[in-house]
Amino acid sequence: MPQSINEVLSLTTPSPLDLFRPDWDGAETLTIYIKRDDLIHPVISGNKWRKLSSIFADTRDIPSHIVSFGGGYSNHLHALGYLCNVLNIRCTAIVRGDYSQNMTPMLSDLKHWSTDIQFVDRATYARRHDERFVHQLRQQHKGALIVPEGGSASTALSGLKMMMDEISVSFDYILAPVASGATLAGIASSLPLNKKACGIAVLKGQEYLESLVSDLIPHQCDNWSIDHRFHGGSYAKKDKTLLDFCYEMRDMYNIPVEPVYSGKLFFALKNKIAAGEFPAGSRIIVLHTGGLQGARN
Ligand SMILES: *Cc1c(COP(=O)(O)O)cnc(C)c1O
Repeated sequence: MPQSINEVLSLTTPSPLDLFRPDWDGAETLTIYIKRDDLIHPVISGNKWRKLSSIFADTRDIPSHIVSFGGGYSNHLHALGYLCNVLNIRCTAIVRGDYSQNMTPMLSDLKHWSTDIQFVDRATYARRHDERFVHQLRQQHKGALIVPEGGSASTALSGLKMMMDEISVSFDYILAPVASGATLAGIASSLPLNKKACGIAVLKGQEYLESLVSDLIPHQCDNWSIDHRFHGGSYAKKDKTLLDFCYEMRDMYNIPVEPVYSGKLFFALKNKIAAGEFPAGSRIIVLHTGGLQGARN
């Protein structure tokens, strides 16, 4: 029998669902679980696997060349570059900005994995969703699969549905970070009745982020919302309160988080609990999306 992709990559799926009992004001009345997608694989970041998984679902029909986009610290390009290297797929990464003289750890990994890295200026990068630009790329890379930034295509939703199907406990709320919106869109579109998905915006973008999410959801649904109070602006990486909180999560609870995504998610959870935003007795799932590689300097 041919090996499944999960076996080939040694993925830990279903990912663990762990009870979390923080010593936080208000948490004693709640039941909180962490869905540990950060533990799916040591290199492939959790939600980036969920979003890319449908591309590799049929091992007899895997593309021979993939082109995608991202910044110099992109968790998406990192996961994709690794996957392509292991699966012997040609990979072209179109990177925003010229890092050729100061490669980030992420880009050094890509180089090591034989990814073809193309640095483009910001104006060129801004055209990544532009139809003419994508058409040019198709001409240039005949037969390649072009994956949007962040892996955020509508095909990403089925991978998030698989994550949701792994959750066997009952719950009222599920929390996840939001950047390109596909993770929240995937959760919301496969959420059982009467449950709420709460996105935590990791970047500034009220209304913009909402439209990204609703554009990806195939049907009308109103079971989700985005909380915009915790992105911390572009300074979050150096925000002392947030960094201290990240250390607290690691040292007191043995949950590694970083200040770009998961740190903000848990920080939001703590603050929302303190503000009494979850009725006593609520059952909450927090999706740890991974992303630790992006915190390297
Ligand atoms: C990319 C990323 C997100 C954001 O997910 P979107 O689907 O783009 O909203 C959240 N957490 C981590 C760790 C990520 O790498």
